[in-house]
Amino acid sequence: MKKIIIAIDGYSSCGKSTMAKDLAKEIGYIYIDSGAMYRAVTFYCLEHGLFDGNEVNEVELAKAMPDIRIEFRLNAETKRPETYLDGRCVEKEIRTLAVSQKVSFIAALGFVREALVRLQQEMGKEKGIVMDGRDIGTTVFPDAELKVFVTASAAIRAKRRYDELQAKGEKGSYEEILANVEERDRIDMNRAVSPLRQAEDAVVLDNSEMTVDEQKTWLLAQYGRVVGRGE
Ligand code: C5P
Repeated sequence: MKKIIIAIDGYSSCGKSTMAKDLAKEIGYIYIDSGAMYRAVTFYCLEHGLFDGNEVNEVELAKAMPDIRIEFRLNAETKRPETYLDGRCVEKEIRTLAVSQKVSFIAALGFVREALVRLQQEMGKEKGIVMDGRDIGTTVFPDAELKVFVTASAAIRAKRRYDELQAKGEKGSYEEILANVEERDRIDMNRAVSPLRQAEDAVVLDNSEMTVDEQKTWLLAQYGRVVGRGE
């Protein structure tokens, strides 16, 4: 069967990665969480003291950027990909609220986006990839064969993220998480470089009232529709 590129974009915490991961597993594709890459750069900045409030030392980050190594490695036990920063697994560290509260500032920097988009395009060269993020269907892979734009109400998204953090024993109140989800959307939609927006040829999914299984079935049907076509 022909291999395609599947781009899944949408708002913060709307379950894109769960859907994307499930689909990739089901159809034997590689899954790439592009948000994890922006999170890894943010974590790097936090660890290296490059933040002053929400301001990042752009000169220092620009100097460091060419040497920051981000990769995904499969965890042999869980069979899930994990994010590595300079050879060290940072999967847990990049999911904290502290990183969520800074990541959109890093993701608004043109030179960071340029470097990460290049890496993402390289990862998709052979196709057979499901990538989720904010600009995958618009900037990274504008020719992706299947583009999905996911949305859900902010309250539902915050509740899902809250449950997820609670389950992992992480800090953060519901109010704090809701504020973060809304703030990230605002910054992501209004930045100058590759703002979050729906690609014209994307299929929209509002998953506010859908279970994970229902979303999985819906996405698999979309995939079937695209690969079935023209074969
Ligand atoms: O997907 P996730 O919520 O982990 O992404 C974290 C942040 O990274 C987003 O809020 C957004 O600011 C940024 N991002 C982006 N472009 C992408 C993926 C994520 O700007 N393709």
